Amino acid sequence: MNKGVAFLFFSLVSGGGLFLAAAPMLARTNFSAAGPSTSQPASVFFVESSKPEDLKQTFAIAHGPRRKLHILIVPGHDSEYWGTQFQGVKEADMTLALGKELGRLLSRDSEFEVTVTRDDVGYNPTFSSYFSQRQEPILAFISEKKKIMGDLESTGAVTAKTDGVFHNKAPSPVVVRLYGINKWANENQVDLVVHIHFNDYPRRKKKSPGDYSGFSIYVPEHQYSNARASKDVATIVSKQLQTYYPESNMPKEETGVVEDQDLIAIGAFNTLDPAALLIEYGYIYEPQFLEANIRGKIIEELATQTYIGVKNFFQSATTTAVGKYNSSLLPHTWKTSVEPGTRYDSSVLSLQAALSLEGVYPPQEYDKHDCPLSGTYGKCTWKSLSLFQQKYSLADEVGRLGAATVQKLNELYSQ
Ligand SMILES: [Zn+2]
Repeated sequence: MNKGVAFLFFSLVSGGGLFLAAAPMLARTNFSAAGPSTSQPASVFFVESSKPEDLKQTFAIAHGPRRKLHILIVPGHDSEYWGTQFQGVKEADMTLALGKELGRLLSRDSEFEVTVTRDDVGYNPTFSSYFSQRQEPILAFISEKKKIMGDLESTGAVTAKTDGVFHNKAPSPVVVRLYGINKWANENQVDLVVHIHFNDYPRRKKKSPGDYSGFSIYVPEHQYSNARASKDVATIVSKQLQTYYPESNMPKEETGVVEDQDLIAIGAFNTLDPAALLIEYGYIYEPQFLEANIRGKIIEELATQTYIGVKNFFQSATTTAVGKYNSSLLPHTWKTSVEPGTRYDSSVLSLQAALSLEGVYPPQEYDKHDCPLSGTYGKCTWKSLSLFQQKYSLADEVGRLGAATVQKLNELYSQ
């Protein structure tokens, strides 16, 4: 271990214990503006490297010989360090499925050039060779960026800050990969980076579900050079994701879009030029992620909503791939009645999506944390279905998915 890499070797943890890779939390290595942070404009100390206006301009003229808007999708973690896991399901497998689907949707638009860092066999060759052959330059890049931040701090321009959100420490190969991805993105004219994750937090009973639910989007802290564009995109994507799922109710994530200085993925030490979002799509133990078939459908839907959110930022219509309901869960043809109490049923999942669009799901006395779309026919679905039946005068089947209700649903949502 030479001196240059020494700072990277902190707390090697096993793959299963990694949630988010955060920069080392050494004293005096994290920075924020002195004084009231909310009134600080973005990029006080750094030249703005990504502007929302420029992103829109690049998108608007991305035709013919012009360069396309380059989106880099990073399915969080990998087969070696797979992030968190719950009941045998690894986060890295979920992030890969979501990343592939998001890449597929974005690629259909002629304005986008999409790169996904890994696929079913591992990192794509561009990245695996970059990590192995460019290790020294990556380490030099980190040292250089850290020095700039350190110099700023010593002048009093910035002061140390911790964000209070728990980030498990990253093992060193992960650190090199994450900074390596930043460096590669800077060198390859990437415009937007989307990191995909599923959340967890430290708790005693790792085999039981935890207390929190919902998604959150982490963005670079407001002083960083890519902060303003990142926040603009994140705010619009967050709004779209709220169509079906709530923002996280974890105290430090309750703002939905969360600024962070320490996450390497979005540019700790100002290491990333393009706009970047790190999306935690929900807590891995939430009911919609527990059964394989429903999990697959939800991941597809989360990719769809993310895609629509990105298109909304560019004020551009989505492709036909997402359908007229703006959802991968609809249209759906209901065939048989389903008994209350049924779990993990895909026709119940599509029913929940339809009831959401009808404005009756979740029913008033519950919220989206109580009633995640999960294909399970419990109290939320029963109550919501009876509101739907009131609306369409189907009084004979209160709360039940009977023949008349099935017929009405098919009339409204099967095409
Ligand atoms: Zn993760």
